[in-house]
Amino acid sequence: MRVKVLGSAAGGGFPQWNCACAQCMGVRSGTLKARARTQTQSAISTDGSRWFLLNASPDLRQQILSSADFVPPAGSRNTPINAVVLTSADVDAVMGLLHLREFQPLQIFSTIAVRRILTEENSLFRVLTRSHPPVKWETLPLDRLMPLIPPSPADRKSGLFCKAVPLNGTFPDYVSESLRNSLSQEEAVIGLTFVSNEKKLFYAPNLPGTGDHWVRSVEESDLAILDGTFWKDDELNAIRKGSKSAREMGHLPLWGDRGLLRQHFRPSKTRRVLVHLNNTNPVLNDESPESRIVRDAGWEIAYDGMELAI
Ligand SMILES: [Zn+2]
Repeated sequence: MRVKVLGSAAGGGFPQWNCACAQCMGVRSGTLKARARTQTQSAISTDGSRWFLLNASPDLRQQILSSADFVPPAGSRNTPINAVVLTSADVDAVMGLLHLREFQPLQIFSTIAVRRILTEENSLFRVLTRSHPPVKWETLPLDRLMPLIPPSPADRKSGLFCKAVPLNGTFPDYVSESLRNSLSQEEAVIGLTFVSNEKKLFYAPNLPGTGDHWVRSVEESDLAILDGTFWKDDELNAIRKGSKSAREMGHLPLWGDRGLLRQHFRPSKTRRVLVHLNNTNPVLNDESPESRIVRDAGWEIAYDGMELAI
């Protein structure tokens, strides 16, 4: 399985367009040893010719154009992008669907709740149904493997399977109370376990970090790409008083009591990568002590253009 990290920053990107914090100014001026990053987006493929987008970031058009893997085959009006798999209805996870509105047979995999939010509450997303044939929504059941690419009869380990792992998250603020009350909370935020050829990827760019369901998913995977949004729980408060904490926003912070770095994963083979990095997170600075701590603890810090394989 090939995994491409097309974007690695949290909402707003890095630098964030309206932010003059030391890190955003440093990356703008080139005085900080850090890479600029677009908003978090990944894509996976088991054969190099059919790709699955993991979420659809606001920067998706630019991200698709950034890689030769997504160039339409010669003479066609087609795309190697097979489908989109959504982990939540957050703006940063779904806005890029609007970039795909010229798409032909677009397939979107999501929980029922995420589909209902996008189809019943947001008329903007109806542009997706204008294509011929219209967008095809597929339901991801919780805790059950479902085939995205069926295995070939000759090789039952082939194919690509996906399991939705509920992460105890909440629905985005924009969802109306009446709709919210009719949805299953478990379906608000999911992690995705992908399985192919007995290799497992666990993808959770939004990780509230409660419960232990997700810990098992990390331990069982060969590669885990996880939420690295904030270094500290009160990180935003330092910039703007009264801001929500990382945990209140559904992000387990890296540092501090019960932070992600304190999590004890059973000794395992899992390669661990941090993604969805907020512009305030000091790990973005390659020379910061925090970046060193993360790397010394065996984690990798994702960047745009990072390629991984399992
Ligand atoms: Zn900033």
